[in-house]
Amino acid sequence: MAEFSLELSEDQIQLQKWIHDFAENVMRPQAEEWDEREEFPYPFVEEAAKIGLYGWEFMAEIMMNDRTGLSTPVALEELFWGDAGLGMSIMGTGLAAAGIAASGTRDQLAEWVPQCYGTADKIALGAFCASEPDAGSDVAAYRTRAKYDEATDEWVLNGTKAWITNGGIADIHVVVAVVDAELKSKGHASFIVPPNTKGLSMGQKYKKHGIRASHTAEVVLDDVRLPGHCLLGGKEKLDERLARVREGKPGNSQAAMQTFEATRPAVAAQALGIARAAYEYSLEYAKERHAFGRPIIMNQSIAFMLADMATEIDATRMLVWRAAWLGRQKKFKNAEGSMAKLKAGRVAVHSTERAIQILGGYGYTREYPVERWHRDAKIFDIFEGTEQIQQLVISRAISGLRIE
Ligand SMILES: Cc1cc2nc3c(=O)[nH]c(=O)nc-3n(C[C@H](O)[C@H](O)[C@H](O)COP(=O)(O)OP(=O)(O)OC[C@H]3O[C@@H](n4cnc5c(N)ncnc54)[C@H](O)[C@@H]3O)c2cc1C
Repeated sequence: MAEFSLELSEDQIQLQKWIHDFAENVMRPQAEEWDEREEFPYPFVEEAAKIGLYGWEFMAEIMMNDRTGLSTPVALEELFWGDAGLGMSIMGTGLAAAGIAASGTRDQLAEWVPQCYGTADKIALGAFCASEPDAGSDVAAYRTRAKYDEATDEWVLNGTKAWITNGGIADIHVVVAVVDAELKSKGHASFIVPPNTKGLSMGQKYKKHGIRASHTAEVVLDDVRLPGHCLLGGKEKLDERLARVREGKPGNSQAAMQTFEATRPAVAAQALGIARAAYEYSLEYAKERHAFGRPIIMNQSIAFMLADMATEIDATRMLVWRAAWLGRQKKFKNAEGSMAKLKAGRVAVHSTERAIQILGGYGYTREYPVERWHRDAKIFDIFEGTEQIQQLVISRAISGLRIE
């Protein structure tokens, strides 16, 4: 077990610096353009792949080869400090990889995760498809069905997935589907839909409030036939698990929830990056901007806003690092991952809103980046479990009661 320390290793400091330079010199200059274009930034992701920042090797490096768990939040804070829409265009595939890691066998991990990313010369994308038009927070209400065809050893998937990052443009779709409706959320399984599979298509592409460089769309599954080996974890393990649940014995936790649980501290670190970007920008602005013959920071009302922002951001980083460390040591006790996500989303929204306030009229225009950061920040109260769902998870953990 690694000791918890606030001192980063030499490697982690190098990683932080490397991503910060990329964020400052490559991401920031093109962030506004991709936000306006509202389309997936292929040239940008290709550039990230060329320097090794987009790829399964990079993800493995920051996630697996780090006993402290801190490399991931350190890297993601810098990336999202650069820009959240572009950051998500790099990180969306990570959700699919996490879905495979949560339910797949070692062989499946080795086969499919590299295919989610492709190579530096030919990038690929992955998508994790859990949410549906009538079922986001309420995972027990998923309707997408997977039926086993014994004659051909194939699974047949039908349904519609909603709000899917990289949905329809991905090479690999990881789909959560119902295999036994009576078992509600315990009757789910995850499937790989390989590239160019017949029956999978993109539905509507959403026009969004923020992270507009990230592609979000519906995924329609119409009689999608998948070979048996595309069931993550394999049929034998699934049958055993379903049998245990039917007998009333505790099954493994739900497929989708496993993925979300493992990724919450990382998502919190992304929100933290946006909060810090807004704080740093408004601090500099407040020192430069004059009103009534003095820099506006000389007014306590402005300086105290910045003092509060700095304090909240540092408090959030402590929660995020604690959660990342606990997650790596497999020592979560009181939903610390959800605490970090809850706090980070709120702090990102609040800090970016305060930044607009400090910039005044300029802050409200698209000439300055803080309005974009404010739009981007709001998603962190919504995806990967809304604010209220995090509160639900935390309240159940601290009370031991089934709070509804
Ligand atoms: C940009 C974007 C990208 C996304 N990417 C993905 C992706 O890649 N893959 C994927 O599977 N999904 C993705 N999602 C979906 C996202 O995870 C869901 O939107 C989210 O889980 C909320 O579900 P919902 O939108 O159906 O809201 P609902 O579940 O309908 O919630 C609506 C409101 O009711 C509240 N609420 C619901 N239930 C309760 C309760 N029990 N107690 C208290 N309050 C409650 C919620 O907190 C919220 O405020 C994405 C969404 C967006 C917007």
